[in-house]
Amino acid sequence: MLELPFDPPVQKIEHELFNEKAVQVFMKRDDLIHPFVSGNKWRKLKYVFEFAKKNNKKYLVSFGGAYSNHLVALASAGAMYGFKTTAFVRGEEVKNHMLMLCKTWGMQLIFVSRESYRDKYKLFETHFGNDDSYLFIDEGGRGELAMLGCAEITDGIDADFTHAFCAVGTGTTMAGIALGVSKKNMQAEGICILKSAEGIENDVKKLIPELHNWKMHHNFHRGGYAKTDEELMRFITEFATQTGILLDQVYTGKMVLAVFNLIKNDYFKPQSKILLVHTGGLLGLLSQV
Ligand SMILES: *Cc1c(COP(=O)(O)O)cnc(C)c1O
Repeated sequence: MLELPFDPPVQKIEHELFNEKAVQVFMKRDDLIHPFVSGNKWRKLKYVFEFAKKNNKKYLVSFGGAYSNHLVALASAGAMYGFKTTAFVRGEEVKNHMLMLCKTWGMQLIFVSRESYRDKYKLFETHFGNDDSYLFIDEGGRGELAMLGCAEITDGIDADFTHAFCAVGTGTTMAGIALGVSKKNMQAEGICILKSAEGIENDVKKLIPELHNWKMHHNFHRGGYAKTDEELMRFITEFATQTGILLDQVYTGKMVLAVFNLIKNDYFKPQSKILLVHTGGLLGLLSQV
């Protein structure tokens, strides 16, 4: 169940800035895992699906905003593996390409006010609490099982990497990467894409209380979740033009641009070898048309 269709490649990224600063940069192409169950969402669902199967769950229930990569991934993977899926979507009923895809895979969408969205357990309990065949999956798929899947992102990565970077929403992916590289001499670093997200550090500490090989950067959110600006969009265009690799404006674009800025500002020692984890999420780019 949710075995990787292939081992995503690690690709070297060339740029004159990297030569000038004597660092090497590579990208783990988890975005190539699947067009819709992309990047970290495949990793995060792997053990959740195993758990669901083992415990005879038939219905998977989760939560997200109207542009949630997690909901698209859950709808797609759920249909692939024979689960029925339901999503509580935050806010008024809207239509967009992401929710259209969710519905195409048979996901039931329940739009709820921002207020009732806050108490996710209550929503689940009131609708499905009396039926054992329903599984609660937290927003973004966050949690321990998701982290264990993300710990496999760096399987097979050369031990001479010094840093592994990813974008941070809930912090689950970064916690998994920190766990995955904890036996290697490598630091996991996360670029927070939410404003005032210091609380996320506590969530990460709860997931990996014994580990200290990680760090979060809070000054690269560019105004907050899903906020964009010309410089970011120009960077995404330039990066795609030069490398062929697409980045999205919500997560991976902000992460890669942040690492470019860190390199410019001599954050890394010469000879550092940096891994950028492409966590996917490219459907988000289509909301920019
Ligand atoms: C969901 C998502 C993230 C955030 O992952 P967390 O585990 O919640 O931190 C990062 N990148 C992309 C592309 C995503 O879709």
